[in-house]
Amino acid sequence: MAAVAPGPAVAAADRLRITEIFLSLQGEARDAGWPTVFVRLTGCPLRCTYCDTAYAFHGGEWREIDAILAEVARHGVRHVCVTGGEPLAQKRCLALLSRLCDAGYRVSLETSGAIDIAGVDPRVSRVLDIKTPGSGELARNRWENLALLTPHDQVKFVLCGRTDYEWAREVLHRHALHARCEVLFSPSKSELAATELADWIVADRLPVRFQLQLHKLLWNDEPGR
Ligand code: SF4
Repeated sequence: MAAVAPGPAVAAADRLRITEIFLSLQGEARDAGWPTVFVRLTGCPLRCTYCDTAYAFHGGEWREIDAILAEVARHGVRHVCVTGGEPLAQKRCLALLSRLCDAGYRVSLETSGAIDIAGVDPRVSRVLDIKTPGSGELARNRWENLALLTPHDQVKFVLCGRTDYEWAREVLHRHALHARCEVLFSPSKSELAATELADWIVADRLPVRFQLQLHKLLWNDEPGR
């Protein structure tokens, strides 16, 4: 019997819009330092003041999930980070995450915190932003997400100055975030000196992890690194 080609509806259901897939070092969060394949999905409904991936807002190309998995496999590493843009803005991201887990990868997801994370495969480590006043996107925080966090996840604040720091410190305590999962505080590169933030965290003995973006120290925002 002749093989039947999948109809357009089936094919469309398995596709995502992708800006880039590349191999680099993970520069942030718990898996910092590991060779990692990044799958960057196109599109984001937010416009943070410090965004360094505006090139992922538009464009990209439709890729079948099978083709994405094949390209990830070609790089031959164990860690995969699904990022954006805001990857959860594409509903099929959930299927991609599960397929990557099924294939045996250690999978992390970088998300803005503006979209429901309830449907994300529990094998995925979710790195959830909480948007500060300085980001310009404070109103987009989906606070209901916080109740869904587990020790497998991480929360990240990118801080633009002292006002953001004090706000984040208050949110940390009010929601007892450090009792739920690891909490990361990062300086916005062009707005807050790293040493200043480090000094504040130490002075307040905050139960958070200070982090710098390793890939920016190494390659200074070179595309695809
Ligand atoms: S959520 Fe991320 S990708 Fe979207 S605008 Fe903010 S920093 Fe950029």
